[in-house]
Amino acid sequence: MITVTEARKHLFSLISPLPSEDVPLVQAAGRVLLDDAVARRDQPPFAASSMDGYAVKSTEVEPDAMFKVVGESAAGHRFTGHIGAGQAIRIFTGAPMPDDADFVVIQEDITRSGDLITITGTPGKDNVRPMGGDFRTGTRITAPRILRPEDVALLASMNVPRVAVTRRPVIALISTGDELVMPGEDPGPDQIIASNTFGLKAMLEQAGADVRMLPIARDTLASLQTAFGLAAGADLVITIGGASVGDHDLVGPATESLGMERAFYKVLMRPGKPLMAGKMGDAAMVGLPGNPVSAMICGVVFILPMIRAMLGLGTEIPALQSAPLATDQGPNGGREHYMRALVTGGKVTVFDNQDSSLLSVLSQANALVVRPANDPARRAGEAVSFLPL
Ligand code: AMP
Ligand code: MG
Repeated sequence: MITVTEARKHLFSLISPLPSEDVPLVQAAGRVLLDDAVARRDQPPFAASSMDGYAVKSTEVEPDAMFKVVGESAAGHRFTGHIGAGQAIRIFTGAPMPDDADFVVIQEDITRSGDLITITGTPGKDNVRPMGGDFRTGTRITAPRILRPEDVALLASMNVPRVAVTRRPVIALISTGDELVMPGEDPGPDQIIASNTFGLKAMLEQAGADVRMLPIARDTLASLQTAFGLAAGADLVITIGGASVGDHDLVGPATESLGMERAFYKVLMRPGKPLMAGKMGDAAMVGLPGNPVSAMICGVVFILPMIRAMLGLGTEIPALQSAPLATDQGPNGGREHYMRALVTGGKVTVFDNQDSSLLSVLSQANALVVRPANDPARRAGEAVSFLPL
């Protein structure tokens, strides 16, 4: 058996960063920018007023100064004439500054009578946004980077209508088991509902993958082979269940019959020991354990890092966080243990029942406490490491 870290190394060797594709800005949010984006203009492209008021020469601004209003500059409609001594231009937020003016007296500091205005307040700053004050032509948004809504707004402002992003990894998900039916179906007396495929699909899509949920495979070689056939074209094929050594665990034999080069089988972790992986043609293949919590935790620990690597975000694993235990914990055994826990008020409460079939406990958890192999007993107040969910 190998450690979690060794298993991850094997998994990374089964995949490669994916190529880029061009997408319109409306589809860019959440994607990974793969080539630097470059501003195609200055913003603002001209010196602009930041307030509604009157544009004047700063040298003429003083208490009680009077001006004659000789024109107007509005957003989208600049004033093109000249401003002489003692003259002002009515101006609005976002409007280009007239060539001869460098100061905007806000309208609250003015009294107006006909075409005449008088400064009655005490003007402070100039209320002018300089040309290029936000960014200049050539300013770069550097890759790689997950594009947030804030980045999309900036790209639009830079007049960048399309961006090069990493193609989404295509992942085929195959649940296996004679006992499984889909949610909404009428289960027979010995049947349960397939849950893992749904949880994993949601998790992997959130990380940027394009997930295809294939029909449930039955516990026969033929059914599994058919399912693998349907997975053709995927970058990563994930099976769930059937990976142990029971008489009905046929994922191993099925992959063998299809010529998979196995990278490893079994990892020193709890839950999730019967994990298998390898290469099937061009695709990576990962066989997850069937127990729902094992499958979801293996998704977090192994599949999410694979997706990040395929997206071009590298293979670094985010550092664990740390907080004191709320209650005593017994010693850990020989396998790294990922324990469902709740972090609140700066303390970690580990749930008592860690059975790997209990999705209700996983759903209440917001963290996985990571106990190293052979970690001794820990007292309340001692710090432990955790992975936020
Ligand atoms: P297996 O690894 O196939 O022996 O499955 C281990 C346990 O997980 C069994 O109790 C299965 O019924 C259950 N199981 C397997 N696959 C799924 C699934 N997709 N959704 C929910 N439970 C599953
Ligand atoms: Mg099974």
